[in-house]
Amino acid sequence: MQSKKLVEQIGLFRINRLLDLATERSLSGTKEDYRLSKRYINLATAISRHYKIKLPEEVKSRICAGCSAVLIPGISCSVRFSGGFVIYRCTACGNVRKLYMKRRNSIDRINAPPDG
Ligand SMILES: [Zn+2]
Repeated sequence: MQSKKLVEQIGLFRINRLLDLATERSLSGTKEDYRLSKRYINLATAISRHYKIKLPEEVKSRICAGCSAVLIPGISCSVRFSGGFVIYRCTACGNVRKLYMKRRNSIDRINAPPDG
């Protein structure tokens, strides 16, 4: 019997591998590659559901929730900074993802060690 940790590790490895393959396909840019890229993302989400693994935030932030495309800044999504948020807009479906950009506290800057 496999331990839960090992199953989770294998699942995460497969998800990351599929995400890398999807990114490669998205970069090549043909219609068939775009279709395959979406297929890889759908397989990765299916793996996470099957093994009951929560998708890591760094993986989630690279996938469009609207159309399952890989979000690559400048290629498949635009990135804007507005009002303390980073806004990712998918160029294929227009879905928007807002991430709060945490600002450094002024006290942190004063207490930060000097560079060099
Ligand atoms: Zn999209």
